Amino acid sequence: TDSLDVAALTAWLDRAAAVLEREKARLTELDAAIGDSDHGVNMARGFSAVAAKLAGAPPADPAALFKTVGMTLISTVGGAAGPLYGTLFLQAAGQATGKPALDAPALAECLKAGLAGIVQRGKAEPGDKTMVDALGPAVAALDAAAGASLPQALAAAAAAAEAGMMATIPLVARKGRASYLGERSVGHQDPGATSSFLLLKALADTAAG
Ligand code: ADP
Ligand code: MG
Ligand code: MG
Repeated sequence: TDSLDVAALTAWLDRAAAVLEREKARLTELDAAIGDSDHGVNMARGFSAVAAKLAGAPPADPAALFKTVGMTLISTVGGAAGPLYGTLFLQAAGQATGKPALDAPALAECLKAGLAGIVQRGKAEPGDKTMVDALGPAVAALDAAAGASLPQALAAAAAAAEAGMMATIPLVARKGRASYLGERSVGHQDPGATSSFLLLKALADTAAG
């Protein structure tokens, strides 16, 4: 498949909800080390609400779907991650407007706009040990994979996000709760970078069929 329509995007979000439920304890454990032990619970609750919302009222197009996801995450996730992931999807909705399905370049534009929204809202720079450190490399990889098939491009994006996630381990946190720990945040993987990788991996797995 060369593009993702509402049904495929819904399948992605259903898969993401299942993955986040499965990884809930792991994400909470990462947040216990450098935060307040709620990232797994926050993300599992938010995406379970998203899956329920999409099942109850299937959106007309990808833009409407992303808008529903963004609003649902803002109202159910809370903390730092809720408004940030909510912003990602609301910005993605703007890029998806008028398109019945999203191919690799369209998804790249959506993710790029979503990341820009997160940066505008949270002011994190690359290397601050946040979700930006997984999402930034994923955007770059999607752009670089312009000639590849959609499954290949998304697999490259997920691999880049995973590398970015691993690269947060030695970093000092400069944004969010983890920044209160200063140097003591070194040696721990960022929870938000981890959930960003899981979301992109679920997207790549969905496109792979
Ligand atoms: P909270 O810290 O409010 O409990 P969560 O635990 O759900 O929120 O999410 C924490 C994650 O949010 C961090 O691991 C980090 O990736 C991300 N984060 C926090 N602040 C920022 C920010 N200003 N910009 C980008 N990401 C951030
Ligand atoms: Mg937390
Ligand atoms: Mg919290």
